[in-house]
Amino acid sequence: MRKKIIAGNWKMNKLRGEAVELVKELVPLVEGIDAVDIVVCPVYVSLPAVYEIIKDTNIELGAQDCFWEDSGAYTGEISAPMLKDVGVKYVVIGHSERRQYFCETDEWVNKKTKAALKTGLTPIVCVGERLEEREAGKTIDVISGQLEGGFSGFEKAEIEKCVIAYEPVWAIGTGKTATPEQAQEVHSFIRGWLAEKFGKDVSEKIRIQYGGSVKPANAKSLLSQPDIDGALVGGASLKAQDFAEIVKAGL
Ligand code: PEP
Repeated sequence: MRKKIIAGNWKMNKLRGEAVELVKELVPLVEGIDAVDIVVCPVYVSLPAVYEIIKDTNIELGAQDCFWEDSGAYTGEISAPMLKDVGVKYVVIGHSERRQYFCETDEWVNKKTKAALKTGLTPIVCVGERLEEREAGKTIDVISGQLEGGFSGFEKAEIEKCVIAYEPVWAIGTGKTATPEQAQEVHSFIRGWLAEKFGKDVSEKIRIQYGGSVKPANAKSLLSQPDIDGALVGGASLKAQDFAEIVKAGL
């Protein structure tokens, strides 16, 4: 049995004080839940403040990106060891917004994922097709291309430490959710791809989250699909009550 993982991607939202308020509200709402891994991903500058609130709780800290070098002349970047140093355990890599607005490539995703693993962070590697790609019947080609590129050169021992997030771009922040069946179809493809490349034992261990307008009303039906092992939640993670309900839908 794979333990479900619900992660809140706060994106570029919340000042430090607001981030602290949000997580203070969340802590008692999810207290005692240990059958689901719970992660919050604030902006970089709020990581230490949020860590102070959650360090002795069942909520783990995540970051929204990292760079692949440990240190050096890379103005504006943050490395995996720097994230680990402030209490981060998970890092989102290759989010569609990074791919779209910051020209992230599969090659970058590959290097960042390796850097996260080397540091002992758990990468949450995002893949997903755009609307025009889905409409052109290219969903599976796009996903397999992102998996091939993102995990090129990976060993079994590396990939089994990763979480994968399937996030159809057309469902992110749009209010349009993939139906549970549409999501399950792609999740099942991803698991099959993992089995083919790394073996069935490894593919059965890896958690694959769904992301794209997950909210309390649709969480249960998505999370009850056989290959959906959690959710990466954007908008709804900014409301403690909604995020807690999504966490509970994973029980
Ligand atoms: C996301 O940010 O990864 C996401 C899925 O956003 P939303 O839940 O708002 O669609």
